[in-house]
Amino acid sequence: MLQLIFLMLSVLSLSFCGEIVATTYPVYYPLKYLVGEKHRLEVLVRSQADPHHYELTPKDAERLLGANLVMTLGLESWEWRLLKNLPKGKVVTLSEGINLLKRGSFPDPHVWLSPKEYRVVVRNIKDALVRWDPSQRAYYQERYSQYLQRLNSLDRKLESTLKTCSYRTLVSTHRAWDYLSRDYGIKTLSLSGVHAEEEPKPSEIKAIVQTVKREGLKYIFAEVGQDRKVADFIASQTGTRVLMLNSSLFPQLNSDDYFSIMERNLRALREGLGCR
Ligand SMILES: [Zn+2]
Repeated sequence: MLQLIFLMLSVLSLSFCGEIVATTYPVYYPLKYLVGEKHRLEVLVRSQADPHHYELTPKDAERLLGANLVMTLGLESWEWRLLKNLPKGKVVTLSEGINLLKRGSFPDPHVWLSPKEYRVVVRNIKDALVRWDPSQRAYYQERYSQYLQRLNSLDRKLESTLKTCSYRTLVSTHRAWDYLSRDYGIKTLSLSGVHAEEEPKPSEIKAIVQTVKREGLKYIFAEVGQDRKVADFIASQTGTRVLMLNSSLFPQLNSDDYFSIMERNLRALREGLGCR
């Protein structure tokens, strides 16, 4: 009997200070801030390469099964497969209420690159945490308010900077910036589709070279962690230089979080688009 009680207690205490897995960095950073020291937290996809084509490994499957809660944006096909394979109630999707852009019949997952739209994701994270662990409601609410304030101030900074740019077209190798484009009034022109390994057609490269020349752009953009061959080729054809953007939010420094990476992105955009 005692043994049984002990077992029950250990199970209870395990689930009480349980572990959460965030599938990607855009989920991980705000979740980490909201959770503080209350729960252990891990990120599933740690590779710097294109996070859109993640393949579940047996070790990762183990981590997911061992977690008490899994949070995922739910906008990629690999996330939909996860959802099907994990017990219901263990996985929370965070896409509810997002004003999604579509690529054909698929959603564009890069919502985090517009702080305006990302606010919906962060609110969903807070709501899910409160539902899962109501004993800490006040704490999560307080941390959420702080995070929201920082998001709002980043939003104002992006808005005031991007409206002053001499160049209004962001030419990038990865089609990640359409939310930023929609919400902050710049145009985007991208070489590849949402998936990094989609090779651009020669006709697409030619069209971009023409646009870059016509608009007299000084810089084009490539992605941290992704192949920049095509960007370098276009730069050589147009006399432009290549600046780096980080759209996956993969940490380049140990101390990186959402805000430090977005500040770096903003600095690159400011230089590349000639903003004040
Ligand atoms: Zn991407």
